[in-house]
Amino acid sequence: MNKSYGLLLITVGWILVFGCRPAEEQAFQFADQGREVPQFNADRAYQYIVDQLEMGPRNPGSQGHLDTRDFLMERLEEYAGESSVFMQAFEHEGYDGEPISMYNLIASFNLQSSDRILLAAHWDTRPRAENDPDRPGDPIPGADDGGSGVAVLLELARIMQENPPPVGVDIIFFDGEDYGESGDLQNYFLGARYWSANPPVPGYQPRFGILLDMVGGENALFPQESYSIRYAPSLVDAVWDVAGEIGYEELFPKEEGALIADDHMIVNRQAGIPMINIIHHRRGDDGNAQFPPYWHTHSDDIDIIDRQTLQAVGELLTEIVFNRIEIQEPAL
Ligand SMILES: [Zn+2]
Repeated sequence: MNKSYGLLLITVGWILVFGCRPAEEQAFQFADQGREVPQFNADRAYQYIVDQLEMGPRNPGSQGHLDTRDFLMERLEEYAGESSVFMQAFEHEGYDGEPISMYNLIASFNLQSSDRILLAAHWDTRPRAENDPDRPGDPIPGADDGGSGVAVLLELARIMQENPPPVGVDIIFFDGEDYGESGDLQNYFLGARYWSANPPVPGYQPRFGILLDMVGGENALFPQESYSIRYAPSLVDAVWDVAGEIGYEELFPKEEGALIADDHMIVNRQAGIPMINIIHHRRGDDGNAQFPPYWHTHSDDIDIIDRQTLQAVGELLTEIVFNRIEIQEPAL
């Protein structure tokens, strides 16, 4: 549908040749490669949250959703180049029986590299606020739940425009993560489900994926989420080790959190890509996840965003992308 198709075809070529990695868990290690790491700027990430909030709630089917789609495509095209950006549109039957248009937004950096990683966040926001006694049926602003992960990845995209990464990096903004009513898991993770079942690049097999969800809130804590441990234990350890090495061991405690169904669960199960989730939560006394008090309420607004949380997560990803991946050139 656009110029990126040619590049996708090139990409298919190397994946067919080099993409046959074993499905079983690989042993990940992220030793310091001694490379220079560009600065992550939390003020810019913060501004990307403000930009998203200005468009109103971004729940599928709303005007804010369409406006934000266009805004994100513009930013990605600016940072990755028009031919390296792809919009995957699909439809989902809503609770009222009418189809809703949804869009996964994908940008690729260093397309020449066959050695790739996947970074993702959901860009939709929740169409209801079931945890809020006030207007529970209205959509939430989603500053942290949706907005923060997108903002961190946009700032990383801007950095990668100026500093081409040593490894291939694909950023995906999934749609429809948070559409479902509580407990109705079939209506969650819609973009991740569609993308996994309809990969734009058949056979796409990056080394690993990292999902960001609620990575900008105050009083944040990122224990190791349990599906991440189940599907990619050594990747979890390697990422948390890096977090400790760059000074964020308190924010990233090396202890098990709780089981949280999210887009990464779908990508692990359906696409066979080892993917972990960095998500603000605590493990409750009953073993279940406890989310911050603003979760799925109208208080998930700019006031609960903490630049230091954005900085920590952004620095961690920047460090991994630029300095922690040993580059393996394919043997031709
Ligand atoms: Zn949510």
